[in-house]
Amino acid sequence: MTSVFVNLAYVVAAVLFVFGLRMLGSPDTARRGNALSAGGMLIAIVVTLLSRGIVEFQWIAAAVVAGAVVGALASRLVAMTAMPEMVALFNGSGGVASLLVGWAALFGSAPGAAVGTFTAATIFLSVMIGGVTFSGSIVAWAKLAEAMPSGAIVFAAQRFINGAILLGLIACGVLFALQPAPDSYLFYAILGLALVLGVMAVIPIGGADMPVVISLLNSYSGLAACAAGFAINNNILIVAGSLVGAAGIILTNIMCKAMNRSLTNVLFSGFGTVKTATKVEGDVKPIVAEDAYLILEAASSVTFVPGYGMAVAQAQHVVHELGELLETNGCEVSYAVHPVAGRMPGHMNVLLAEANVSYDQLVEMDDINPRMANVDVAVVIGANDVVNPAAREDDGSPIYGMPIINVDHARTVFVLKRSMASGFAGVDNPLFFGANTRMLFGDAKASISALIAEFK
Ligand code: NDP
Repeated sequence: MTSVFVNLAYVVAAVLFVFGLRMLGSPDTARRGNALSAGGMLIAIVVTLLSRGIVEFQWIAAAVVAGAVVGALASRLVAMTAMPEMVALFNGSGGVASLLVGWAALFGSAPGAAVGTFTAATIFLSVMIGGVTFSGSIVAWAKLAEAMPSGAIVFAAQRFINGAILLGLIACGVLFALQPAPDSYLFYAILGLALVLGVMAVIPIGGADMPVVISLLNSYSGLAACAAGFAINNNILIVAGSLVGAAGIILTNIMCKAMNRSLTNVLFSGFGTVKTATKVEGDVKPIVAEDAYLILEAASSVTFVPGYGMAVAQAQHVVHELGELLETNGCEVSYAVHPVAGRMPGHMNVLLAEANVSYDQLVEMDDINPRMANVDVAVVIGANDVVNPAAREDDGSPIYGMPIINVDHARTVFVLKRSMASGFAGVDNPLFFGANTRMLFGDAKASISALIAEFK
């Protein structure tokens, strides 16, 4: 296959990626956009496999079978509630794949052939960024899965140590690029330092700042792939890596804005370590489904505010059913989604779309907040941090400054959760003690189902 044909096919694939991404911007076109990008990837893979004699086909076939088995098992065994952890592992896999591609490129196109300085520099970048992405994603996974404390881990001289590791990495990278060799001890130093830096960079970030880390690691996985593309001189890998890198940066920016924080502040402040939130106490007013029904039945506007607990309870379908019953009852129903609700970017949107909630009924935080005072009932379904008024009022709180959905401004608030436990950020929530708040304790799906039973 001529290189002109290969590059033409890559251009077609790149165009499909770009249009696919564009179509992902709207729920109406998202499925087609996904298919279009997947088609682009298929073209890229087929053309690459047919054009290059990189490895023998039996190895590729073995890898495809192994990957397919792992993927099929994961899709069957991993619970929907564990999707955020899965996304963290996907990012890590992207990172380690780029690391390995970079490493393989070190051995040159022919046995014994040395690589040039430029290629060595790109190998350094793919191993460094890939390594940081891999170990950082494993830590992010552990924090999300609560296999380790989800808060920030900080210690004296941490920034100094991280800075020293980064400088060490750059120094090794420069020396390695000047004298690249497959058995260079500098290469192994780069590999080791990159893996350590990934862990060190993610442990001081935790609590409500985790969404930023997830989106940033996603971006890094793209940048690592882009560097690997340069290392093996593959144009489509460069394009695909850049697109993932850029998309991740845009998402990171959205997440930072959603939390009213700058990226530097998130990366270097050590969430939840310097501030102590005011302890919240007061009277809690529980409510039972029968009484909650009477209030909902009389309401003319209801806003559902989903959070991580809706994902845990898998309550999205019954929430939609309740929404439809309320509408039949003449009530105006909307769903207010906070950008960092749940455990991964877009988590609530995915669940509500799965339950066929019309996209027209979804309202963003900035649109609902000015109207909240006119909402009869705000129904908080397993959300906590994203509706915590301490973010507005308590300047000692670690989440102070994060914009929230102001459900406490609604006429009545129902909070559906199982206990008085705090959310991911580990901060008390004064909303639960509000004069207009009623706590409907229990699993969100069971509570909503009980409300539906009352309506029926
Ligand atoms: P929170 O983590 O603040 O709160 C979730 C609440 O759900 C808990 O208080 C819990 O209370 C309740 N809950 C759990 N299971 C159930 C159930 N079965 N039925 C009813 N309630 C249940 O969630 P939010 O969505 O409000 O906020 C997200 C947090 O996660 C933010 O701090 C965000 O920064 C962080 N984060 C977000 C990421 C993202 O990308 N979106 C990524 C990583 C972290 P109880 O146990 O009493 O039931």
